[in-house]
Amino acid sequence: MAVSRTQGAIFGTDWTRAELNQLAGLVGGTEDGVTDRNKLAVTYPVTGDEVGDIPLLTQADVEQAVERSRAAVSEWQDISPDERAEIFDRFAALVEQHRDELLDLIQLETGKARQHAVEEFIDVPMTASYYAEKGPELLADEKRAGAVPVISRAEVTYDPVGVVGIISPWNYPFNLSMTDLLPALMAGNGVVLKPDEKTPFVALRLVELLIEAGVPEDVCIVVTGDGPVVGSALVDAVDYITFTGSSETGRIVAEQAGRNLIDCSMELGGKNPMVVLDDADIDLAARGAVHGCFTNAGQLCLSMERIYAREDIFEEFLESFVAETEQLTLGGDFDYTADIGSLIDEGQLERVANHVEDARERGATVHTGGRKRPDIGPLFYEPTILTDVPDDSLPACEETFGPVVRVEPVSSTGDAIEAANDTDYGLNASVWTADRSRGHEIARQIESGTVCVNDAYAIGWAAVDAPMGGVGDSGIGRRHGPEGLKRYVEPKTIASSALGPMNAPPAVPDSLFARGMIRSTQLLRKLKKSARNLSVTLVRNN
Ligand code: NAD
Repeated sequence: MAVSRTQGAIFGTDWTRAELNQLAGLVGGTEDGVTDRNKLAVTYPVTGDEVGDIPLLTQADVEQAVERSRAAVSEWQDISPDERAEIFDRFAALVEQHRDELLDLIQLETGKARQHAVEEFIDVPMTASYYAEKGPELLADEKRAGAVPVISRAEVTYDPVGVVGIISPWNYPFNLSMTDLLPALMAGNGVVLKPDEKTPFVALRLVELLIEAGVPEDVCIVVTGDGPVVGSALVDAVDYITFTGSSETGRIVAEQAGRNLIDCSMELGGKNPMVVLDDADIDLAARGAVHGCFTNAGQLCLSMERIYAREDIFEEFLESFVAETEQLTLGGDFDYTADIGSLIDEGQLERVANHVEDARERGATVHTGGRKRPDIGPLFYEPTILTDVPDDSLPACEETFGPVVRVEPVSSTGDAIEAANDTDYGLNASVWTADRSRGHEIARQIESGTVCVNDAYAIGWAAVDAPMGGVGDSGIGRRHGPEGLKRYVEPKTIASSALGPMNAPPAVPDSLFARGMIRSTQLLRKLKKSARNLSVTLVRNN
């Protein structure tokens, strides 16, 4: 069913309440099958007003949605990877065609600034196009070395795992649902997506566009409702689970996946460090810090919450960073007038305010920000820069996930690396230096899934061909790149012999056969070693 676009406006967008209700009717894979369930209000964070509601599904509803996807997936698997790529290209074009409407919807659900909605918007066509280009070759059968040269053969096929469950968070509802869903689909799986209950409409609209692009109905289904009920039911029903959210919930989900013996990837929290070296361009680094710390009001898993600047440039950097930050404007309009949008809900606002108050009470200095801004909207908080933050205070110990950063001087590059690594997390890090080779060298010493040099996060995220994920408490597995697709397949080895079974032929005694096998494996190993040595010598002599 396609939602008809009619005139009317919620807060100056093109969306009407009726259209959002129609989207809610797509939950669970049927037009109205679950609409009589209890409802949960979805609000526009900038004003706190309700804009729509979604059904609170039960465990049985989720099981049914997964079964529906399982039943539909064979039709999808009959479509070749090359044809799936064409559908992905059509999907990318549709997303671009509906840009303004989708940007409005992202802002309506999240309260973020328009420019930050754009950042997540452009990611989706880019990811669709990447997997359209690479998917077919990544899924092609591969020849591997057989056990015995000439007389045996081995090949690997990549079969879909079945139905993939995706649990996504509210902070980037547009790209964090699609960045994991698209490779799962390309690999020939069905997908059941559970967006966060605060941000369901973007996911519903995207699945609708996937269907319009040519994905058969019911292959991708959105389920909505309470996280512990719907999320947990999903983990119990699917063949693979991709989770993006807090490390705390990630542990619960990974434990449940482990009990069910299904594979999973976990994209979790971070406490990301930024290192500013003594040769860095200070103005660039200050601008980079503003982008890295305050994009989406700091509600970004990759954002910087700790900055370590070499002491010889510390004061100059701090001054420039504070000055740049004080230029930022707060607001929630559906245009590009505001630099920073709203926080998502009361819980986030209180968490951010508590972190700043705790640091302030224990002696931290607030250089700018540190205040709620109810004059702009109920959930706005100023971008905040702290120094002298005690190690036992909340922003030193926990992820804030808001517009708050601590800046500390360090006396050497070694100290900066040590401070950067002093965390249980390891999602993203950033290094600033005039010497990119030095930056790459330092990046190797930082324990993190991604390290960006002379950028905070975008240069790493936008490298869709390269894997992205966390170490330590930041997660398990990788999204993006070949790794992001290969997690969704079961590699199957098919091996064959030209001479029948690999055991002694009837006329040959077992002892003779065993000696022959041992001698031939020794010979094979020696031949391989000689070939390796020869190729090393040839490379050296060239
Ligand atoms: P959260 O863990 O509370 O919720 C994330 C998702 O899990 C939501 O869809 C929620 O409904 C669902 N959920 C809640 N309880 C569940 C349960 N028991 N079983 C299954 N699903 C359940 O996360 P949040 O606080 O809403 O999001 C912010 C966190 O997410 C931050 O820590 C942030 O760093 C992290 N995050 C990580 C990434 C990444 O890519 N690494 C991206 C965005 C956000």
